[in-house]
Amino acid sequence: MLCIITGPLAAFNEILQDQLPLWLQVFTLDTLRYLVGAGLVSSVLGGFGAWSENRRIQDRRASAADVRRELLYSLLTTAVYASVALFTIQGKESGWLNIYESVADFGWWYTCLSLPLVLVLHDAWFYWVHRALHHPRVFHWAHRVHHLSRTPTPWAAYSFAPAEAFMMALFLPLLLAVMPLHPAVLFLFLAVMILRNAMGHSGCEFHPRYWVDTPLDRLTTTTHHDMHHQKFNGNYGLYFTWWDRWMGTELPGYKAAFRRAAAGRDVNVTSVASALEL
Ligand SMILES: [Zn+2]
Ligand SMILES: [Zn+2]
Repeated sequence: MLCIITGPLAAFNEILQDQLPLWLQVFTLDTLRYLVGAGLVSSVLGGFGAWSENRRIQDRRASAADVRRELLYSLLTTAVYASVALFTIQGKESGWLNIYESVADFGWWYTCLSLPLVLVLHDAWFYWVHRALHHPRVFHWAHRVHHLSRTPTPWAAYSFAPAEAFMMALFLPLLLAVMPLHPAVLFLFLAVMILRNAMGHSGCEFHPRYWVDTPLDRLTTTTHHDMHHQKFNGNYGLYFTWWDRWMGTELPGYKAAFRRAAAGRDVNVTSVASALEL
């Protein structure tokens, strides 16, 4: 009987001792990426205080308890990401997943074009997983944690329940099973992802006023995701607005809310901002 229990425990212990140093390395890297991305956006908000205050989207403010919760759940998320990454590394070593070291293997054209393609695919993954997370049977245990941030801060970028973190982490190994990627493309993709994510949760409209009246309107703004946190049932996209438009889930009044935030609250600062075309 004892043997039945100690056998699996010993095997688990062995795997843990084997994989723990690598897990810790990946966890540290994922956490650093989060801290640098969210920290950078927070520093811009703090460093340009008058400008960012003027472009605040909501009157409501996040409390210190909100930021603490966002930080703690984000750390839990990087732990989930690191665990999934161990399987990704294992998949690469056993040849199931393709991360190529030499650009010559697939050429410069493919390597350069793979970055925008990954962003388009990730946006589609994000949109549909996000919509599924809003299903009433799933929302409470998988996505409610993220929506505890009614007035999000950049630190909410990874503030997910473990189930949501797992679904988000699955994207990369699934993609690598069908699409070879260079490590530099992976690095840039993850950098763009955390920066756009932290900006989308910053509560401050970074984009210039003309944004929604040009073709750039296909790219999301801070207001786009901030409205999702205020109203819940729309604006599910991450980088692009097209899925919400195609599926009829763009929240009514999005462009008007964007223009209000981008125009600023204070006339004086607004005129400075418009002079600088901010
Ligand atoms: Zn969010
Ligand atoms: Zn949501």
